Amino acid sequence: MPQVYNWQLGRKMEYPYEERHPKSQFAFVFNTNRCIACQTCTMACKSTWTFGKGQEAMWWNNVETKPYGGYPQFWDIKTLKLLDDAHQKAGATMGWEAGKQGPSKPYGEYSGMTLFEAARQRYGPEGHQRVLGYLPTDEEWRFPNIYEDTSTAYEGGRLGISTEGASLPEHKSWFFYLQRLCNHCTYPACLAACPRKAIYKRPEDGIVLIDQERCRGYRACVEACPYKKPMYRPTTRVSEKCVACYPRIEGTDPLSEGVPMETRCMASCVGKIRMQGLVKTNPDGSWVEDRQHPLYYMVKIEKVALPLYPQFGTEPNGYYIPPRWVPRPYLRQMFGPGVDEAIERYTAPSRELLAVLQLFRTTQKILSRYEIKQGPKVYETTVNGKPWAMYNDTVIGYDAKGREAVSVTVEEPVHVRPAQYANSI
Ligand code: SF4
Ligand code: SF4
Ligand code: SF4
Repeated sequence: MPQVYNWQLGRKMEYPYEERHPKSQFAFVFNTNRCIACQTCTMACKSTWTFGKGQEAMWWNNVETKPYGGYPQFWDIKTLKLLDDAHQKAGATMGWEAGKQGPSKPYGEYSGMTLFEAARQRYGPEGHQRVLGYLPTDEEWRFPNIYEDTSTAYEGGRLGISTEGASLPEHKSWFFYLQRLCNHCTYPACLAACPRKAIYKRPEDGIVLIDQERCRGYRACVEACPYKKPMYRPTTRVSEKCVACYPRIEGTDPLSEGVPMETRCMASCVGKIRMQGLVKTNPDGSWVEDRQHPLYYMVKIEKVALPLYPQFGTEPNGYYIPPRWVPRPYLRQMFGPGVDEAIERYTAPSRELLAVLQLFRTTQKILSRYEIKQGPKVYETTVNGKPWAMYNDTVIGYDAKGREAVSVTVEEPVHVRPAQYANSI
């Protein structure tokens, strides 16, 4: 089986096809700390793409409450269990060698098996299954927001009620919201598994699509995708998935003025947790060094945003700023070994990071570059025992044509409504 380089794992891994990378890659950063689970993103996608007959249980974008919620129910626990069983059978462990960090391995090296390698180990090189996976039941697709706002029990408290309160870094009782859509993976499991070769990755932007004419509804993609983002439509008997709102990405949406525009789920985010981008890639799949690109900066320089379950091996292109209050072992399992550093950097953000975080949801244009104009110091304090200062810098975002798309300050300006308009809107 061909070997491909997965930078999130810091090593080569097996994949059924040879390496071939797009010119740029659809990617996004989500700040889990800010999400209010309003589901505006979910409804924006639903009302655009999946409101038809046969799509009732189809939510390309969903927001679930962790640790108990999931759509389809138990998707991550079930996949982790399959992977864990495969390791136990092989006498192997799912570990990370964090010490082996380097420029092409920012999180060290993953020493366990990916879902592709576990499938080969279990079924053999000529086996019928190329990816370890499972097909969710109809019941599991039925409740997209099950266990909404359900927290873990408070340990030690009478009736589960805390008398002590909680403090960072870890709350004793916790939950958080996980926002999910297709990750338009670099090595898509859905594409690897499709016996009809109906799934393809676009060379211009890395968007992964299902050809509706070629698909015969075998659901191999549904079984293989660890994130469970391809979905079967019983009325047409073919599978469908997030299309990355491609007219917007192409700049052909009437609103976009010819430049790439953020997708429906991104542009509608009320909590301002989402930032989308197109990152340029080298022929070997690595990201072209682009210091002033907001996503490059957050993922590669600050390392504040991390991939979701990198150990699955698909090299997902969605990145998450982890929640600050959740027990670290849980987060390390979900986002890999970069969690502690990411939370530390988010908790006391650098001057530059604080400015870049202001760009979230300030424009519908996809930003290709940012610049910062320095402003005065406005606040001083200590964070985790270290001095920390806030500056009222101005951050300017530029669109794909290099035009200024937005300019915002770190301190939000205060507008005082004149007395004669006090009760009007
Ligand atoms: S719109 Fe934004 S804040 Fe609301 S649920 Fe979606 S991701 Fe969270
Ligand atoms: S998230 Fe799933 S459906 Fe999307 S590209 Fe990756 S493997 Fe395919
Ligand atoms: S990118 Fe577009 S199609 Fe994909 S989940 Fe978001 S709104 Fe839906």
